Amino acid sequence: MKSRIGKTTHYMGEEFITCQEVLTFLLEYLSKDLTPEEEQNFERHLAVCPSCVAYLKTYKQTVHLGRVALRRETDARPPELGVELVRAILQARA
Ligand SMILES: [Zn+2]
Repeated sequence: MKSRIGKTTHYMGEEFITCQEVLTFLLEYLSKDLTPEEEQNFERHLAVCPSCVAYLKTYKQTVHLGRVALRRETDARPPELGVELVRAILQARA
């Protein structure tokens, strides 16, 4: 299977996928939908890019908050809150 991650950038003499690719495949990465090769490229990028690591952390927290909100059925907040947060993040990165 051909890797969908095609755009690369150079850093310290090595090839890495770009930040844009990381953002594009973030959801696939978190849902373990990447091929082993893609996942490796993804993690190699994260190893040298603190800004993407920070973004990933925020993203994970948001998804987690969304799940917590969904779980609390008696909570006053509507269950759509998590979805709205994720949507806002997706719009912010576009
Ligand atoms: Zn990056």
